[in-house]
Parts: sequence; structure tokens; C-alpha cells
Amino acid sequence: MRQIIIAGNWKMHKTQTESLEFLQGFLSHLEDTPEERETVLCVPFTCLNFMSKNLHGSRVKLGAQNIHWADQGAFTGEISGEMLKEFGINYVIVGHSERRQYFGETDETVNARLLAAQKHGLTPILCVGESKAQRDAGETEAVISAQIEKDLVNVDQNNLVIAYEPIWAIGTGDTCEAAEANRVIGLIRSQLTNKNVTIQYGGSVNPKNVDEIMAQPEIDGALVGGASLDPESFARLVNYQ
Ligand code: PGA
Repeated sequence: MRQIIIAGNWKMHKTQTESLEFLQGFLSHLEDTPEERETVLCVPFTCLNFMSKNLHGSRVKLGAQNIHWADQGAFTGEISGEMLKEFGINYVIVGHSERRQYFGETDETVNARLLAAQKHGLTPILCVGESKAQRDAGETEAVISAQIEKDLVNVDQNNLVIAYEPIWAIGTGDTCEAAEANRVIGLIRSQLTNKNVTIQYGGSVNPKNVDEIMAQPEIDGALVGGASLDPESFARLVNYQ
């Protein structure tokens, strides 16, 4: 059985003080969810220490939003797996489209970061997705398939989560049709050697559309930006029907 993972990606949002306010609200709204439903919060590096102390003993797991491929070195502004490990986190997002678009990440650096995450015992959440122009040109399958092939070189598929995030659906309110997300995720799965990899959908998931998205047979969870910032909304997503 594949694991369901509902993960929040806070991006560059929330100070430590704001993360405390979130936690107080979120934990009070969280109902008992089934065992196979994992809840993850991928927070800014500056909140990791505080959050790991406050989530200790809870069922909510913690993740970072990026990891460098080297353990240490002259890489100003970067954070390594060795550093992340100390916080007792479980997950790290790798290759988010915002990293690819604004910070020059390539399939080669994404691959190196995936390998670094696994080397340090973290489960990477690999993001893949096509742009609006690529979709309109009918290139969705080719783009996704090339990303999967290049990003996963030498990657252990037994310790991996993938998020299908069409770029045009991120932060736009323009969600991918649930059936279409299901179709693309099925294509991704057909390319994997381990068919039990958890594959999430990401892109404008919210309390109104979560039930339909999660009802799709290929979709094993959600990677959520905007709606993970509000404690009540994120609790509603975790408690989807
Ligand atoms: P969104 O972001 O839910 O705000 O669309 C998703 C993501 O970028 O992971």
C-alpha cells in the first residue's frame, strides 16, 4: 500500500513567532487521522530548530525546502544535509519549480541534491512539472519524462516522494483538473522501477478541491503552498474525506 503524504510548503513565509501562532491553531484543529496519512511541514531554515522542538512527540513530521549537494564548503548561503540532520527532520523538497526558475537549478543539480538528501537519511520530495507554454505546445509528457529520467539517475526509489506540480497551477488558483493530474501521475509511475513511490499533486490545492483530488487513484497526497499557511485550512486538507 502506498503512503499518503499531505505536505505543506511554507516557501519564504513565517517568522519563528508566526510559526508558533500557526502551530497552536493547527494542532488544535488536527483530528485523529488514519495511520497511513502522514502530515509534513516544510518550513524555512530559520524555523527548523524551533519547530523540531515544538513538534517533538507529535505525528507531524518536519521538512526543509532545499539541501546542498556538498556536506560543507565555499557555498555562501547554502545549507547542507549534515546541518539539516541535526534538527531531526525527515523530508526535504528538491527541485521545486521556483528553485529551477529563479535560482538556476538544473536537472543535474537537482539530481545531486537528491543524492545528498538520501546520503543523509532524508526523504527527498522531488518536484517536477511543465510550464503553461509547454502544456499548450503538447509537450507535457515529454517534459515530465525527461525530468524524471535526468533527476533520478542513481537515486534510490525506495526513499523518495515525487510531487507533480504543473507550474501554471502553482499559486494561481488555476488547479489542474483532478483527472488530468491523475493521468500525468500515472505516466510518472509507469516510468519508475518502484511502483509504490508516493506521488503527490501540487498546485492550488485548497479545502474546496482537496477531496476530489485525493479521490483519484494515482494521487497519493498533496504538496500545498498557499493553503498550508493558514492553520484551519491546512488541518482541513490533512483531514480530507
Ligand atoms: P500553491 O503552491 O499550493 O500555493 O499553488 C504549491 C507549491 O508550490 O508547492
